Amino acid sequence: MAEFSTRAIHSGQEPDERTGAVVPPVFLTSTFVQDGIGRMRNGYEYSRSGNPTRDSLQEQLADLDGGVRALSFSSGLAAEDALLRAVLAPGAHVVMGNDVYGGTHRLVNRLHVPWGVELTTVEMSDLDAVRAVLQAGEPGRTVVLWVETPTNPLMKIVDIAALAAIGHEVGALVVVDNTFASPYLQQPLALGADVVAYSTTKYLGGHSDVVGGAIVLRDEELAERVGFVQFAAGAISGPMDAWLTTRGIKTLAVRMERHSANAQAVAEALVGHPAVERVFYPGLESHPGHAIAAKQMRGFGGMLSIALTGGPEAARRFAESTEVFQLAESLGGVESLIGYPSEMTHASVKGTELAVPEHVVRLSVGIEDVADLVADVEQALTR
Ligand code: PLP
Repeated sequence: MAEFSTRAIHSGQEPDERTGAVVPPVFLTSTFVQDGIGRMRNGYEYSRSGNPTRDSLQEQLADLDGGVRALSFSSGLAAEDALLRAVLAPGAHVVMGNDVYGGTHRLVNRLHVPWGVELTTVEMSDLDAVRAVLQAGEPGRTVVLWVETPTNPLMKIVDIAALAAIGHEVGALVVVDNTFASPYLQQPLALGADVVAYSTTKYLGGHSDVVGGAIVLRDEELAERVGFVQFAAGAISGPMDAWLTTRGIKTLAVRMERHSANAQAVAEALVGHPAVERVFYPGLESHPGHAIAAKQMRGFGGMLSIALTGGPEAARRFAESTEVFQLAESLGGVESLIGYPSEMTHASVKGTELAVPEHVVRLSVGIEDVADLVADVEQALTR
Protein backbone atom coordinates (compact mmCIF):
# COMPACT_ATOMS: atom_id res chain seq x y z
CA MET A 1 0.00 0.00 0.00
CA ALA A 2 1.31 3.45 -0.91
CA GLU A 3 2.38 5.93 1.76
CA PHE A 4 0.03 8.52 3.28
CA SER A 5 0.91 11.51 1.04
CA THR A 6 0.47 9.45 -2.11
CA ARG A 7 -2.87 8.08 -0.97
CA ALA A 8 -4.05 11.56 0.07
CA ILE A 9 -3.60 12.67 -3.53
CA HIS A 10 -4.81 9.59 -5.40
CA SER A 11 -7.40 7.71 -3.30
CA GLY A 12 -10.85 8.10 -4.80
CA GLN A 13 -9.42 10.43 -7.46
CA GLU A 14 -9.34 8.30 -10.61
CA PRO A 15 -9.23 10.43 -13.81
CA ASP A 16 -12.62 11.02 -15.41
CA GLU A 17 -13.45 8.06 -17.69
CA ARG A 18 -15.22 10.08 -20.36
CA THR A 19 -12.75 12.95 -20.80
CA GLY A 20 -9.55 11.87 -19.09
CA ALA A 21 -9.67 14.95 -16.82
CA VAL A 22 -7.01 14.40 -14.16
CA VAL A 23 -9.21 16.09 -11.57
CA PRO A 24 -12.58 14.32 -11.45
CA PRO A 25 -15.43 16.73 -12.24
CA VAL A 26 -17.67 18.16 -9.53
CA PHE A 27 -21.04 16.46 -9.95
CA LEU A 28 -23.28 19.43 -9.29
CA THR A 29 -26.49 17.55 -9.84
CA SER A 30 -29.38 16.75 -7.55
CA THR A 31 -30.64 13.79 -9.61
CA PHE A 32 -29.60 11.16 -12.19
CA VAL A 33 -31.42 9.98 -15.30
CA GLN A 34 -32.88 6.44 -15.32
CA ASP A 35 -32.92 4.36 -18.51
CA GLY A 36 -36.15 2.72 -17.37
CA ILE A 37 -37.99 2.80 -14.07
CA GLY A 38 -35.44 1.83 -11.44
CA ARG A 39 -32.72 1.27 -14.12
CA MET A 40 -29.93 3.57 -12.93
CA ARG A 41 -26.78 3.89 -15.08
CA ASN A 42 -24.16 3.71 -12.33
CA GLY A 43 -26.24 3.12 -9.22
CA TYR A 44 -26.83 6.85 -8.66
CA GLU A 45 -30.41 7.97 -8.24
CA TYR A 46 -30.64 11.16 -6.15
CA SER A 47 -27.82 13.14 -4.49
CA ARG A 48 -29.06 12.72 -0.90
CA SER A 49 -28.61 8.95 -1.26
CA GLY A 50 -25.42 9.17 -3.30
CA ASN A 51 -23.30 11.54 -5.38
CA PRO A 52 -20.00 10.69 -7.13
CA THR A 53 -18.15 13.74 -5.71
CA ARG A 54 -19.19 12.82 -2.17
CA ASP A 55 -18.22 9.20 -2.85
CA SER A 56 -14.80 10.28 -4.01
CA LEU A 57 -14.25 12.24 -0.76
CA GLN A 58 -15.59 9.34 1.32
CA GLU A 59 -13.19 6.92 -0.38
CA GLN A 60 -10.27 9.28 0.23
CA LEU A 61 -11.22 9.69 3.93
CA ALA A 62 -11.72 5.96 4.53
CA ASP A 63 -8.35 5.17 2.98
CA LEU A 64 -6.44 7.77 5.01
CA ASP A 65 -7.68 6.39 8.34
CA GLY A 66 -7.54 2.72 7.33
CA GLY A 67 -11.33 2.37 7.69
CA VAL A 68 -13.71 0.21 5.66
CA ARG A 69 -15.94 3.19 4.97
CA ALA A 70 -16.26 6.93 5.60
CA LEU A 71 -19.40 9.04 5.52
CA SER A 72 -19.30 12.76 4.92
CA PHE A 73 -21.71 15.31 6.36
CA SER A 74 -22.64 18.98 6.26
CA SER A 75 -20.73 19.73 9.50
CA GLY A 76 -18.69 18.02 12.19
CA LEU A 77 -21.63 18.10 14.57
CA ALA A 78 -23.97 16.64 11.93
CA ALA A 79 -21.48 13.78 11.56
CA GLU A 80 -21.35 13.23 15.34
CA ASP A 81 -25.13 13.34 15.58
CA ALA A 82 -25.57 10.76 12.82
CA LEU A 83 -23.18 8.37 14.54
CA LEU A 84 -24.83 8.86 17.93
CA ARG A 85 -28.32 8.39 16.51
CA ALA A 86 -27.21 5.15 14.90
CA VAL A 87 -25.93 3.66 18.16
CA LEU A 88 -27.90 5.25 21.03
CA ALA A 89 -31.37 4.58 22.35
CA PRO A 90 -33.09 5.81 25.52
CA GLY A 91 -31.26 4.36 28.53
CA ALA A 92 -27.87 4.28 26.79
CA HIS A 93 -24.92 5.81 28.61
CA VAL A 94 -22.27 8.03 27.00
CA VAL A 95 -18.95 8.84 28.67
CA MET A 96 -16.91 11.87 27.56
CA GLY A 97 -13.90 13.81 28.80
CA ASN A 98 -14.53 16.68 31.19
CA ASP A 99 -12.98 19.06 28.65
CA VAL A 100 -14.62 17.66 25.53
CA TYR A 101 -15.30 20.22 22.76
CA GLY A 102 -18.26 22.31 24.00
CA GLY A 103 -20.34 21.72 20.87
CA THR A 104 -20.07 17.95 21.29
CA HIS A 105 -21.15 18.25 24.92
CA ARG A 106 -24.06 20.51 23.95
CA LEU A 107 -25.17 18.06 21.25
CA VAL A 108 -25.43 15.17 23.69
CA ASN A 109 -26.55 17.17 26.71
CA ARG A 110 -29.22 19.25 24.98
CA LEU A 111 -30.47 16.88 22.27
CA HIS A 112 -29.75 13.29 23.32
CA VAL A 113 -30.12 13.53 27.11
CA PRO A 114 -33.72 14.87 26.92
CA TRP A 115 -34.50 11.82 24.76
CA GLY A 116 -33.36 9.50 27.59
CA VAL A 117 -29.60 9.14 27.07
CA GLU A 118 -27.35 9.42 30.12
CA LEU A 119 -24.12 11.45 29.97
CA THR A 120 -21.14 11.29 32.33
CA THR A 121 -18.03 13.43 31.99
CA VAL A 122 -14.75 12.27 33.49
CA GLU A 123 -11.06 13.20 33.60
CA MET A 124 -9.90 11.07 30.64
CA SER A 125 -6.22 11.13 31.53
CA ASP A 126 -7.09 9.33 34.79
CA LEU A 127 -7.50 5.78 33.47
CA ASP A 128 -8.68 4.41 36.83
CA ALA A 129 -11.42 7.05 36.97
CA VAL A 130 -12.52 6.15 33.43
CA ARG A 131 -12.58 2.44 34.27
CA ALA A 132 -14.62 3.12 37.43
CA VAL A 133 -17.23 5.11 35.50
CA LEU A 134 -17.45 2.46 32.78
CA GLN A 135 -17.80 -0.43 35.19
CA ALA A 136 -20.49 1.21 37.34
CA GLY A 137 -24.03 0.01 36.73
CA GLU A 138 -25.41 -2.82 34.60
CA PRO A 139 -23.02 -4.60 32.23
CA GLY A 140 -23.42 -3.19 28.73
CA ARG A 141 -24.82 0.09 30.07
CA THR A 142 -22.11 2.29 28.53
CA VAL A 143 -22.58 2.32 24.80
CA VAL A 144 -20.11 5.05 23.77
CA LEU A 145 -16.74 6.12 25.13
CA TRP A 146 -16.01 9.44 23.42
CA VAL A 147 -12.33 10.37 23.31
CA GLU A 148 -10.79 13.63 22.09
CA THR A 149 -7.03 14.17 21.90
CA PRO A 150 -5.51 16.73 21.78
CA THR A 151 -8.44 18.51 23.43
CA ASN A 152 -9.90 21.86 22.49
CA PRO A 153 -8.56 24.27 23.79
CA LEU A 154 -6.33 23.03 26.65
CA MET A 155 -4.42 20.55 24.51
CA LYS A 156 -4.76 17.66 26.95
CA ILE A 157 -3.41 14.38 25.60
CA VAL A 158 -4.96 11.03 26.44
CA ASP A 159 -3.74 7.54 25.61
CA ILE A 160 -5.95 6.21 22.80
CA ALA A 161 -4.71 2.60 22.96
CA ALA A 162 -5.21 2.41 26.74
CA LEU A 163 -8.69 3.96 26.56
CA ALA A 164 -9.69 1.67 23.68
CA ALA A 165 -8.73 -1.35 25.80
CA ILE A 166 -10.66 -0.04 28.83
CA GLY A 167 -13.70 0.79 26.69
CA HIS A 168 -13.69 -2.63 25.06
CA GLU A 169 -13.62 -4.36 28.47
CA VAL A 170 -17.24 -3.23 28.86
CA GLY A 171 -18.20 -3.55 25.19
CA ALA A 172 -18.38 0.22 24.58
CA LEU A 173 -17.88 1.71 21.14
CA VAL A 174 -14.69 3.76 21.32
CA VAL A 175 -14.93 6.92 19.25
CA VAL A 176 -12.03 9.35 18.76
CA ASP A 177 -12.60 12.94 17.66
CA ASN A 178 -9.41 13.36 15.62
CA THR A 179 -10.12 16.90 14.45
CA PHE A 180 -7.06 18.55 16.05
CA ALA A 181 -4.55 15.94 14.90
CA SER A 182 -5.95 14.94 11.48
CA PRO A 183 -5.26 11.47 10.05
CA TYR A 184 -1.76 12.56 9.05
CA LEU A 185 -0.63 13.03 12.64
CA GLN A 186 -2.73 10.37 14.39
CA GLN A 187 -4.35 7.11 13.35
CA PRO A 188 -6.97 6.17 15.98
CA LEU A 189 -8.20 2.98 14.27
CA ALA A 190 -4.67 1.57 14.21
CA LEU A 191 -4.46 2.38 17.94
CA GLY A 192 -7.58 0.31 18.67
CA ALA A 193 -10.49 2.79 18.36
CA ASP A 194 -13.67 1.73 16.54
CA VAL A 195 -14.73 5.00 14.96
CA VAL A 196 -13.06 8.31 14.05
CA ALA A 197 -15.01 11.57 13.96
CA TYR A 198 -13.94 14.79 12.25
CA SER A 199 -14.88 18.34 11.78
CA THR A 200 -13.44 18.43 8.23
CA THR A 201 -13.97 22.20 8.47
CA LYS A 202 -10.57 22.28 10.17
CA TYR A 203 -7.31 20.64 8.96
CA LEU A 204 -8.81 18.28 6.38
CA GLY A 205 -10.44 21.12 4.41
CA GLY A 206 -7.55 23.27 5.54
CA HIS A 207 -8.44 26.60 3.90
CA SER A 208 -11.30 27.98 6.04
CA ASP A 209 -13.61 27.89 3.03
CA VAL A 210 -15.95 24.99 3.82
CA VAL A 211 -17.88 23.53 6.77
CA GLY A 212 -18.09 19.74 6.91
CA GLY A 213 -17.73 16.60 8.99
CA ALA A 214 -16.99 12.92 8.63
CA ILE A 215 -17.24 9.58 10.37
CA VAL A 216 -14.73 6.83 9.53
CA LEU A 217 -15.57 3.26 10.55
CA ARG A 218 -13.81 -0.07 10.72
CA ASP A 219 -16.99 -2.16 10.87
CA GLU A 220 -19.15 -2.66 7.79
CA GLU A 221 -22.36 -3.36 9.72
CA LEU A 222 -22.05 -0.17 11.80
CA ALA A 223 -21.15 1.74 8.63
CA GLU A 224 -24.46 0.57 7.13
CA ARG A 225 -26.35 1.90 10.15
CA VAL A 226 -24.64 5.30 10.08
CA GLY A 227 -25.07 5.37 6.30
CA PHE A 228 -28.79 4.87 6.82
CA VAL A 229 -28.94 7.92 9.13
CA GLN A 230 -27.00 9.92 6.53
CA PHE A 231 -29.57 8.94 3.91
CA ALA A 232 -32.69 9.12 6.08
CA ALA A 233 -31.91 12.36 7.97
CA GLY A 234 -30.03 13.86 5.03
CA ALA A 235 -27.27 16.00 6.61
CA ILE A 236 -25.01 15.22 3.64
CA SER A 237 -22.14 17.31 2.33
CA GLY A 238 -23.08 18.93 -0.97
CA PRO A 239 -20.93 18.24 -4.06
CA MET A 240 -19.07 21.58 -3.99
CA ASP A 241 -18.30 21.25 -0.27
CA ALA A 242 -17.15 17.66 -0.78
CA TRP A 243 -14.91 18.72 -3.66
CA LEU A 244 -13.31 21.59 -1.70
CA THR A 245 -12.59 19.16 1.13
CA THR A 246 -11.05 16.65 -1.27
CA ARG A 247 -8.86 19.37 -2.74
CA GLY A 248 -7.73 20.41 0.74
CA ILE A 249 -6.87 16.84 1.72
CA LYS A 250 -4.41 16.47 -1.16
CA THR A 251 -2.01 18.86 0.62
CA LEU A 252 -2.75 17.68 4.18
CA ALA A 253 0.64 16.06 4.77
CA VAL A 254 2.74 19.08 3.80
CA ARG A 255 0.42 21.47 5.62
CA MET A 256 0.53 19.45 8.85
CA GLU A 257 4.34 19.33 8.76
CA ARG A 258 4.48 23.12 8.44
CA HIS A 259 1.69 23.74 10.99
CA SER A 260 3.57 21.57 13.50
CA ALA A 261 6.95 23.22 12.89
CA ASN A 262 5.46 26.73 13.13
CA ALA A 263 3.48 25.93 16.29
CA GLN A 264 6.58 24.43 17.94
CA ALA A 265 8.52 27.63 17.21
CA VAL A 266 5.74 29.90 18.48
CA ALA A 267 5.32 27.76 21.62
CA GLU A 268 9.06 27.88 22.34
CA ALA A 269 9.11 31.66 21.86
CA LEU A 270 6.30 32.05 24.39
CA VAL A 271 7.71 29.78 27.10
CA GLY A 272 9.36 31.84 29.81
CA HIS A 273 7.95 35.16 28.53
CA PRO A 274 7.05 37.28 31.57
CA ALA A 275 3.53 37.94 30.24
CA VAL A 276 2.87 34.22 29.80
CA GLU A 277 1.92 32.05 32.77
CA ARG A 278 1.70 28.78 30.86
CA VAL A 279 1.93 27.41 27.32
CA PHE A 280 -0.26 24.42 26.44
CA TYR A 281 1.46 22.64 23.54
CA PRO A 282 2.15 18.87 23.48
CA GLY A 283 5.39 19.38 21.58
CA LEU A 284 6.98 20.94 24.67
CA GLU A 285 8.79 18.43 26.86
CA SER A 286 7.26 20.14 29.90
CA HIS A 287 3.71 19.28 28.69
CA PRO A 288 2.25 16.50 30.90
CA GLY A 289 1.06 14.57 27.82
CA HIS A 290 4.30 14.94 25.83
CA ALA A 291 5.42 11.31 26.15
CA ILE A 292 2.03 9.90 25.12
CA ALA A 293 1.77 12.40 22.27
CA ALA A 294 5.24 11.42 21.05
CA LYS A 295 4.15 7.76 21.12
CA GLN A 296 0.81 8.10 19.33
CA MET A 297 1.30 11.13 17.05
CA ARG A 298 3.60 11.70 14.08
CA GLY A 299 3.92 15.39 15.04
CA PHE A 300 2.34 17.72 17.58
CA GLY A 301 0.05 19.79 15.36
CA GLY A 302 -0.70 23.45 14.85
CA MET A 303 -2.86 24.26 17.88
CA LEU A 304 -1.66 25.78 21.11
CA SER A 305 -3.12 27.80 23.96
CA ILE A 306 -1.56 30.17 26.46
CA ALA A 307 -2.59 31.43 29.89
CA LEU A 308 -1.56 35.02 30.55
CA THR A 309 -0.07 36.24 33.82
CA GLY A 310 -2.13 39.45 33.56
CA GLY A 311 -5.45 37.55 33.82
CA PRO A 312 -8.60 37.95 31.68
CA GLU A 313 -7.88 41.62 30.87
CA ALA A 314 -4.44 40.78 29.44
CA ALA A 315 -5.84 37.76 27.58
CA ARG A 316 -8.52 39.84 25.87
CA ARG A 317 -5.98 42.57 24.99
CA PHE A 318 -3.57 40.00 23.53
CA ALA A 319 -6.33 38.39 21.43
CA GLU A 320 -7.22 41.80 20.02
CA SER A 321 -3.65 42.94 19.40
CA THR A 322 -2.20 40.40 16.96
CA GLU A 323 -2.00 41.44 13.34
CA VAL A 324 -1.08 38.32 11.38
CA PHE A 325 -3.18 36.09 13.68
CA GLN A 326 -6.76 37.15 12.90
CA LEU A 327 -9.40 37.12 15.62
CA ALA A 328 -11.94 34.51 14.53
CA GLU A 329 -13.67 31.29 15.54
CA SER A 330 -12.51 28.00 13.97
CA LEU A 331 -9.02 26.66 13.34
CA GLY A 332 -6.93 24.48 11.09
CA GLY A 333 -6.72 26.75 8.05
CA VAL A 334 -3.57 27.92 6.27
CA GLU A 335 -4.00 31.35 7.88
CA SER A 336 -3.24 31.88 11.57
CA LEU A 337 -6.24 32.57 13.80
CA ILE A 338 -6.56 33.61 17.41
CA GLY A 339 -9.56 33.06 19.67
CA TYR A 340 -10.72 33.85 23.18
CA PRO A 341 -12.43 30.53 24.03
CA SER A 342 -14.40 31.54 27.13
CA GLU A 343 -16.44 34.02 25.10
CA MET A 344 -16.13 32.61 21.60
CA THR A 345 -15.88 28.87 20.83
CA HIS A 346 -16.63 27.76 24.40
CA ALA A 347 -19.24 30.34 25.44
CA SER A 348 -21.85 27.55 25.59
CA VAL A 349 -20.04 25.81 28.49
CA LYS A 350 -19.44 28.95 30.60
CA GLY A 351 -20.23 28.29 34.25
CA THR A 352 -20.00 24.47 33.88
CA GLU A 353 -17.08 22.14 34.68
CA LEU A 354 -16.14 22.43 31.00
CA ALA A 355 -15.65 26.21 31.25
CA VAL A 356 -12.35 27.49 29.86
CA PRO A 357 -10.38 29.78 32.21
CA GLU A 358 -10.77 33.42 31.26
CA HIS A 359 -7.05 34.10 31.03
CA VAL A 360 -6.61 31.54 28.24
CA VAL A 361 -6.19 32.41 24.56
CA ARG A 362 -6.12 29.82 21.77
CA LEU A 363 -3.89 30.04 18.70
CA SER A 364 -4.37 28.17 15.45
CA VAL A 365 -0.89 28.50 14.00
CA GLY A 366 -1.03 28.74 10.21
CA ILE A 367 1.58 28.10 7.56
CA GLU A 368 2.77 31.68 7.04
CA ASP A 369 6.45 32.52 7.52
CA VAL A 370 7.38 31.50 11.05
CA ALA A 371 9.41 34.68 11.72
CA ASP A 372 6.31 36.80 11.05
CA LEU A 373 4.24 34.66 13.41
CA VAL A 374 6.74 34.80 16.27
CA ALA A 375 7.19 38.57 15.80
CA ASP A 376 3.41 39.02 15.82
CA VAL A 377 2.80 37.26 19.16
CA GLU A 378 5.80 39.01 20.68
CA GLN A 379 4.56 42.48 19.68
CA ALA A 380 1.01 41.68 20.87
CA LEU A 381 2.35 40.69 24.31
CA THR A 382 3.89 44.13 24.75
CA ARG A 383 0.60 46.01 24.15
N1 PLP B 1 -14.88 18.59 17.17
C1 PLP B 1 -13.95 19.50 17.45
C2 PLP B 1 -12.73 19.10 18.21
C3 PLP B 1 -14.12 20.83 17.04
O1 PLP B 1 -13.17 21.76 17.34
C4 PLP B 1 -15.30 21.18 16.33
C5 PLP B 1 -15.55 22.58 15.90
O2 PLP B 1 -14.89 23.51 16.34
C6 PLP B 1 -16.26 20.20 16.07
C7 PLP B 1 -16.01 18.90 16.49
C8 PLP B 1 -17.56 20.53 15.37
O3 PLP B 1 -17.38 20.71 14.01
P1 PLP B 1 -18.24 21.67 13.07
O4 PLP B 1 -18.05 23.07 13.56
O5 PLP B 1 -17.71 21.41 11.70
O6 PLP B 1 -19.68 21.23 13.22
